Amino acid sequence: MPDMVLQLHDKLAVVQLPEAKPVLVKLRQHKQLLRGIIQDSQTIDKQISLQPENILSIFPHKLPQFGKAYNTFVEPRLLVEKLPRWGNICFFRQLSTTELNNFHQGLDLAYRQFIRRNNLRFLLPINLEVRNPRGKMVGMWHKPKKQIEQYIEINPASFITNPHEPDNRRGGPKYIKCIVTHEISHPLYQLYLPDTIKARWVRLYHSFVRLQALTRQDLDAVRQDLIGSKITLRQYRKAAEEETKLFFDAILTWIKDTHHLDSRSLDLLMSQGDDLQEYWPHSRLHLSEVKVPVTNYSNKNPEECFCECMSWYAMEEKLPKVIIKLIKRSIRAVQPR
Ligand SMILES: [Zn+2]
Repeated sequence: MPDMVLQLHDKLAVVQLPEAKPVLVKLRQHKQLLRGIIQDSQTIDKQISLQPENILSIFPHKLPQFGKAYNTFVEPRLLVEKLPRWGNICFFRQLSTTELNNFHQGLDLAYRQFIRRNNLRFLLPINLEVRNPRGKMVGMWHKPKKQIEQYIEINPASFITNPHEPDNRRGGPKYIKCIVTHEISHPLYQLYLPDTIKARWVRLYHSFVRLQALTRQDLDAVRQDLIGSKITLRQYRKAAEEETKLFFDAILTWIKDTHHLDSRSLDLLMSQGDDLQEYWPHSRLHLSEVKVPVTNYSNKNPEECFCECMSWYAMEEKLPKVIIKLIKRSIRAVQPR
């Protein structure tokens, strides 16, 4: 029997592992899963993923719920379902009947109007995971290293249509379709799209990058305006117009990279009467901005731009001709022969 070193406040569970005697494990914090540690020997910790049905007892005696269990972040798997077209779906979140219907309808839309219509059935099966909302993320595709299996997490705030949200965020079946078609475009880009076509997406993305040059006069005007206003950098930025904000951020980034001074240090200098001339950029400063005419998120990088465009295409939303052309070309390029 291995020794387990326990410390005050350790959380413990008794777990039934497949084909083994029940073991006592320490619960350990991990990003999303309930993890346990078995101490194999005095030096080696073996990490295991725990499923609620395997936990025989937990101290104190209570099954963990999402987010709050004994200093550990837990998200117990509640249900596994198998859908003929998609594959396994794991639910880490309790959905009401309406939510569940919306979810299934959304999947169905994604299948019929994206996968089947474009002959992309080779992307399936894929593991779907319905998870609890966390942060801004509403979905994620991932393929753990050394694994063939791929996963799509779906975790919007709601599965219920909300008329007060913008069209593409309303939460109902269409929103699920939007999330799923975006996420399943990631493997399309990373694993199937030929480099020749990927390069076209990079060039297309870059065609929406605008480069601008700030002249010496522009730069000094911002500095004098700032010094004259006698407020902090943060307050100045908040009150500034969109374009000035852009300039201002570029200037602050430049000062940070060049002089290693952050805004707090600059505020301090200003409060002591410094006009910042010594640290301000003197010659031209180039700044760039990307505006893909699809969604804000498409501005992130060429891959996200691809996924947003594919999803927008599946949603039958308006897209510039040049993008539609490249989408069709991409779909042709990945077709099985
Ligand atoms: Zn994405």
